[in-house]
Amino acid sequence: MLTNSLGRSDRLNRVHPVSQWAGKSEAGPLIFDRAEGLWMTDIHGKTYLDAFAGLWCVNVGYGQKSVVAAAQAQMEKLPYATGYFDFASEAAIRMAEKVAELTPGDLNHVYFSLGGSDAVDSALRFIDYYWTARGQPERKHILSLEKGYHGSSSTGAGVTGLAPFHAGFSVPTAHQHHIPAPGAYRSEDPSDAAVIAASVQALKDRVHALGADRVAAFFAEPVQGSGGVIVQPHGWLKAMREACDELGILFVVDEVITGFGRTGKMFAQEHEGVQADIMTMAKGMTSGYAPMGACVLSDKVFEGIAATGGTVGHGYTYSGHPVSAAVGLEVIRLYQEGGILANAQARAPAFMAALKRLEAHPLVGEVRGLGLLAAVEIVADKRRKTPFAADSGISQKLFSALLENGLIARCFNDGTIGLAPALTISPDQIDLIAERIETSLNTLSL
Ligand code: PMP
Repeated sequence: MLTNSLGRSDRLNRVHPVSQWAGKSEAGPLIFDRAEGLWMTDIHGKTYLDAFAGLWCVNVGYGQKSVVAAAQAQMEKLPYATGYFDFASEAAIRMAEKVAELTPGDLNHVYFSLGGSDAVDSALRFIDYYWTARGQPERKHILSLEKGYHGSSSTGAGVTGLAPFHAGFSVPTAHQHHIPAPGAYRSEDPSDAAVIAASVQALKDRVHALGADRVAAFFAEPVQGSGGVIVQPHGWLKAMREACDELGILFVVDEVITGFGRTGKMFAQEHEGVQADIMTMAKGMTSGYAPMGACVLSDKVFEGIAATGGTVGHGYTYSGHPVSAAVGLEVIRLYQEGGILANAQARAPAFMAALKRLEAHPLVGEVRGLGLLAAVEIVADKRRKTPFAADSGISQKLFSALLENGLIARCFNDGTIGLAPALTISPDQIDLIAERIETSLNTLSL
């Protein structure tokens, strides 16, 4: 029985992202009505603590009035200006300037997208163009990590190393390859040095097997988000940067989740003092208040492409949308001058400590994280570190239990709980997240 007309309409007319198209619950979706801070309220008045910032994006929390005012002012003054024909708006220029100032090293050239998938897609287009411009068009192969997520565009979905994004589609796998994800939890030798060395070796072996002069780039997330919040050892990103230099391939860092304070630095590359050749970002860039992403190019890549003197035929109507840019500028001001980045840094140790205490629970195998990005990995057998099977239904059971207890968190297929609360989180809210996870685990019927 459908319980309300909105739910019925949803089932009739709305196609949801990454969802089963048939056999959904007749009750309709969970429909949210309003939100404030980290709290969301559904249309029936039930409140939830959002420990996932929407979809790892609402970093400044809900209800930031100055962001709303910035959007309104821009809409009233100039709601749209294209970037085609050498047209521009002040907001888009200022936002590009700000992003270039914040990103490491000579990542100076900002190409705006609407989100992460098209930022990655833009990166793939520019990589292709760059190598062709450099007289090496045979460099077509792209490497990334198993369980990596780089969006779901028709080419980017292949760079993503998660089976559900490939199943049923023809992804262009002829040029897309994955090397193992460097997690320590189940490694025979979990030391940082061993995990890093194995990953570097895997990259080199695969590049040499393909032919080093046929490989274009390696894509990495500084922390693998959608793959289950897999945190690589400190030093991994730097080692991969050096390996890419040695191999002569481009190093792309996808900071769509890790950017804008999520890991305790403005960008996760800063933890290791490294710089990508190309960087992608979205989500926290506008904190979800308006859609915006970017593909940022280093001087080397930008100049390599510019040197052709030709038209680079890649563009979107809404690239550099002035309203999104105005929102982005205000959101960044809140991170910096509104103390939100400082709060993320201050709260991270207590966040990790509260979650780490859950490791005493019989169902919790490992708690890991960086900054305010974390995972609580649930296991079927704690001693053997056996994961729940993807078809065990654990993910849905746990997700329902968390919602029942008023907590929104991501539940990956194996039951791992992903957490990415707004960076404005308070000490009380940290305790409440841990408490509600524990209650949910205790009430879970397996
Ligand atoms: N890259 C990474 C690392 C992501 O986490 C995501 C989204 N979760 C994307 C790309 C795609 O971003 P979007 O959903 O905005 O298209």
